[in-house]
Amino acid sequence: MVYFVGAGPGAPDLITVRGQRLLAEAQVVIYAGSLVNRRLLEGTVEGCEIYDSAFMTLEEVMEVITRAEKEHKTTVRLHTGDPCLYGAIREQMDCLDSSGIPYEVCPGVSSFCGGAAAMKMEYTLPAVSQSVVITRMAGRTPVPERESIASFAAHRATMVIFLSAGMLKELSQELVRGGYEQDTPAAVVYKATWPEEKTLLCTVGTMAETAKREGITKTALILVGDAVGQKSYDRSRLYDPEFTTGYRRGRE
Ligand code: SAH
Repeated sequence: MVYFVGAGPGAPDLITVRGQRLLAEAQVVIYAGSLVNRRLLEGTVEGCEIYDSAFMTLEEVMEVITRAEKEHKTTVRLHTGDPCLYGAIREQMDCLDSSGIPYEVCPGVSSFCGGAAAMKMEYTLPAVSQSVVITRMAGRTPVPERESIASFAAHRATMVIFLSAGMLKELSQELVRGGYEQDTPAAVVYKATWPEEKTLLCTVGTMAETAKREGITKTALILVGDAVGQKSYDRSRLYDPEFTTGYRRGRE
């Protein structure tokens, strides 16, 4: 059996209770060493085989899993944040399907949630934005043209941009090309929930120099939109004394 487990954004106690149990029971762990906190591996059993997938190809990962299956061992494939975002899990699941190896997925706290927590912000502020666009700049992995940063920027919704900390000049230009003003609030969140976490408030126009000043080129999220650092917004209806909900009668 194989479990794809979300390790959370960094702090070792931000893995789920289920994920922690699966990790404690595993006989083989393959973890994404570039971003998963190694302290999580302290919770594995004596004799657990541990592999860092940063040094492995998909084929090598599959080889380890296939051998573990033959030996009736349980494997945990530990991915950073939640495995459903930029986790390359689909190709692994497809390989497992064709080999008839059973698997399950245990979700995790994505870094986009860790980033909001670090900033103490709400992405979906009433009357500001009710949508969050999760995207990235094209790198070695291309992004379809219809999903360009500029096309999303035209919505002026909150944006959370992954895997792009090394391209902030271009990102900033794309955001402006799409319709964001230079002075739209933005933030660079570096290593959210890790001890070395940094939260840098900036604007669409200043994000590149802000990150450069702090030497940040990777492991950061870029948050963009009026919800970042916004002072004015509407109160929620849910907790409005005048408003009747499924649970509470509003004042007449
Ligand atoms: N599945 C992961 C994302 C993997 S892609 C998730 O759900 O978070 C790797 C990218 O995620 C990094 O380049 C960075 O943009 C972002 N990232 C991962 N952990 C982070 C953290 N603790 N703080 C800020 N960004 C992080």
